[in-house]
Amino acid sequence: MAGHAAGNRVPAVSGPAPGIDGFRTPRAACLLAPNPSPMTLEGTNTWLIAEPGSPSVVVVDPGPDDEGHLRRVHAAAAAGGRRVAKILLTHGHLDHSAGAARLAELTGAPVQAADPAARLGPEGLADGDVITAAGCEVRVVAAPGHSADSVCLLLPADGALLTGDTVLGRGTAVIAADGNLGDYLRTLARLRDLAGEREIGLLLPGHGPVLADPAGTLEYYLSHRAERLDQVRSARAAGARTPAEIVAMIYADVDPAVWPAAEWSVRAQLDYLDEP
Ligand SMILES: [Zn+2]
Repeated sequence: MAGHAAGNRVPAVSGPAPGIDGFRTPRAACLLAPNPSPMTLEGTNTWLIAEPGSPSVVVVDPGPDDEGHLRRVHAAAAAGGRRVAKILLTHGHLDHSAGAARLAELTGAPVQAADPAARLGPEGLADGDVITAAGCEVRVVAAPGHSADSVCLLLPADGALLTGDTVLGRGTAVIAADGNLGDYLRTLARLRDLAGEREIGLLLPGHGPVLADPAGTLEYYLSHRAERLDQVRSARAAGARTPAEIVAMIYADVDPAVWPAAEWSVRAQLDYLDEP
């Protein structure tokens, strides 16, 4: 794994175990929301972004509408008299976004998201947008696939990419009901190219620990998807017809608690395979 990262700009890191509560890079810090589940791993990672010494801070993915978590995020963001300049959403799924309105109320900050329905305020998040806030530059990379409205957020100064649910800290991501596998494969290939150009040395996911080998991780995701597609083709050839039958056949190695989500992935794979 380390071979891929050797030439990349991996920032200095400190804090407890990677990717969980309290993990920080020079400009990003993680606060873990208390919503663990088979789908959310340890819970949702809320990220605070700021240039050291900046009088303001950006919050990415407030997480669920959990008053304790949101008050903790607010307190951490406001430490030293800072104000929250913006709240950004990697996508509109509720485990990332449900707390946005309450955090906006606590902080007075606008909420920016790719999906107009998830915004509070006039500004969205579109591919190529460069957000300058909290002394940092954040570049928006459209990442449709897990959901139609997913974006990744590049923090060039740290060589870090906030991936939302496009890449998870452990295991692999699913294609949600509002996602698309063809889009997802194109997104993964684009992110792999970004990682290959050494713009990214660290992935900061929406769930689970951080990943220090972006190129290797993205290669793994792409090969995993290719493998799953082959398995779906084989399962069909062996007589499986419905998504549930296919899941039971090919996800035997996966916690049954995530089978319903896997079924969405299989539906996405069938759609992809049956596209003209
Ligand atoms: Zn999601």
